[in-house]
Amino acid sequence: MEKIAIAIDGPASSGKSTVAKLLAKDFQFIYVDTGAMYRAVTYLAIQHQVAFDQEEELVELIKNYPISFKQTVDGQLVFVNDQNVTEEIRQTDVTAAVSEVSAHREVREQLVRIQQELAKQGGIVMDGRDIGTTVLPDAEVKIFLVASVDERAQRRYKENLEKGRESDLETIKEAIAQRDYLDSHREVSPLVQAIDAVKIDTTGMTIKQVVAKIQQVIQEKGYEIS
Ligand code: C5P
Repeated sequence: MEKIAIAIDGPASSGKSTVAKLLAKDFQFIYVDTGAMYRAVTYLAIQHQVAFDQEEELVELIKNYPISFKQTVDGQLVFVNDQNVTEEIRQTDVTAAVSEVSAHREVREQLVRIQQELAKQGGIVMDGRDIGTTVLPDAEVKIFLVASVDERAQRRYKENLEKGRESDLETIKEAIAQRDYLDSHREVSPLVQAIDAVKIDTTGMTIKQVVAKIQQVIQEKGYEIS
């Protein structure tokens, strides 16, 4: 497999990270979860009592607490400095505030620079909101994953049940819709489909079917899957 860049964008809980991880494993590519980076900054802000509207202080946190990923047998772990925050960044307080943090221009500039650096060597699958439009505008393959709010909420609810986390379907649905709204209406790099991205509506599709569909798109673009 040629060392191409695959950009996967889409709204909250559309299955981006699940399929991105599977594709990266298949192709032995690097996987970069850019949402985890915005979550890590939000987590740091909560820990250091930095208000979410304090752009400069948020940027200071990014500079002082480098965010990194570590591949392990248990999957990809997220670190700030040498603290493992993989679990913490998925907590409700982080999820509820991340769209406010990610709306700041300077915060985005700092993280986009790191993301572009990670992608330099090629052979990458990156998922987020602005990968095809801003981070990797020259990515060979761009996918835009969507699914109905109902289905996305159901998937998250099921996942919570499986992990033994207490949750309420209506609350999840509202949180997803709110995050979609904020992410697609912000001024800087809003969530929008790149003109050259292939849109896949995953409503009613299994993960396996979505992965197969993306592989088909990659092949149709002339890249051999081996
Ligand atoms: O992908 P995930 O749902 O973990 O992303 C968390 C949040 O990070 C999004 O709701 C969005 O506010 C922000 N984000 C972003 N740009 C990206 C990835 C995530 O603004 N490329």
